[in-house]
Order: sequence, then structure tokens, then C-alpha cells
Amino acid sequence: MNVNQTAAWIQSYNQHLQEQKDYLTSLDRKIGDGDHGINMARGFAEAAKAVEAETFETSADVLKKAAMTVMSKVGGASGPLYGTALLKMSMAAKGKDVEGDVFAEMFEAAIDGIKQRGKAETGEKTMLDVWVPVLEEVKSSGFDAAQVEETAREAMEATKDLTATKGRASYLKERSKGHLDPGAVSSYYLFVSLAEALKEEG
Ligand code: ADP
Ligand code: MG
Repeated sequence: MNVNQTAAWIQSYNQHLQEQKDYLTSLDRKIGDGDHGINMARGFAEAAKAVEAETFETSADVLKKAAMTVMSKVGGASGPLYGTALLKMSMAAKGKDVEGDVFAEMFEAAIDGIKQRGKAETGEKTMLDVWVPVLEEVKSSGFDAAQVEETAREAMEATKDLTATKGRASYLKERSKGHLDPGAVSSYYLFVSLAEALKEEG
């Protein structure tokens, strides 16, 4: 993934979030407070603008810029969590060609950061329930963008059957079952966007 493809990842993710803003918000209305789409669309619009406004040397620099912007502009639980994920990916990518095993290192670093911040584990109906299966897939079969997208989609759909034990949705206990986790859905779009960006020449 070269520097232009990394910038394209952020741009593509922003586009998906703008398109899915109402959908994400409607998911969060069912098991949260109905702001996930608004939070994400606002934050990544700013991140996309910040990334577009500068020329970067490396993928790590692009991810760092996006991380800093998201951390300061996205409200709710998801702002710091996505900001941390991007920052940890930036740190893991630093000084490296982003390919092969480096993707696994980046995803692992992001997951460690999300866990540290949110004190959640897998199975608690959060964004981790998409990130962790993606990491496992990449670790076992190597990085393949189309496969990553497919794994993320299945994992996102599987959050429907989980009961939330972290975040706002946990207030609903068993009643959170039967609904997709909003953060898992926005994480799915992050991996869709990655697959799209990697198809570009850069
Ligand atoms: P808030 O919950 O503060 O309103 P958002 O609605 O923007 O924030 O984000 C909600 C999403 O954040 C959830 O769907 C879930 O995926 C994720 N989330 C919430 N708490 C945690 C946590 N402790 N660890 C990991 N992810 C979390
Ligand atoms: Mg919310």
C-alpha cells in the first residue's frame, strides 16, 4: 500500500461514511443513543479534508494525520477508539513497506489500542468483533484484500446475535440481541474502503 493508496483509503472511507451516515445512526438509535453516523461522518469528513490538504512522504504519515484529526473531531466512544486504531496502525507501519505481514502487525496494534482504551474483549458486541476476525484471517492466510472484506462482512453480520456487555448497548442487556452493532458496521466499511483503495494504482 503506497502513500497515495493510503490517502485513498481515508477518502474512500469518508465517502462510505457520508453515504451510510443515516444507516449507522439508525442502527445506533436501536441499541445506543443514535449518534454513531453523525460522529463518524463529521470526524472523517475532517480527516479526509486534512489528508487532502497536505502532501505526505509515507503511509504512516497519512494514518497519523487522520488519527490526530479523528481523535479531536469525533465525539462519542468511537472517536478515541478509531483515533487510537489509526494511530497504532501508523506506528506499526512506520519505516516499513506496507504489505504482507505488515498488515497483520498494523491490525494487531490497532486491536491492542482499542482494547486498552475501551477495556473490551471479543464477543462483547463492539467493533472488536470485526477487527479480531480480520486479524485472525490475515494471520492464518496472509493478506488478501478481497478476503479481508468478506471476513469483515461475515463478522459484522454475526454481531447481530451477540449480547452487548460494553458501551451504551450494554444497558439493554439481552435486548441488544437481534441488532447489528453500529461500530462493527462502521468497521466493516473501513475494510471495504481498504480493499477499494488497494485496487487503485496510487
Ligand atoms: P457512543 O456509544 O458514545 O454514543 P458511538 O455511538 O459513536 O459512541 O459509537 C458506538 C460504538 O462504539 C459501538 O457500536 C461499539 O462498536 C463501539 N464501542 C463502544 N464502547 C466500546 C468499547 N468499550 N470498546 C470497543 N468498542 C466500543
Ligand atoms: Mg452512540
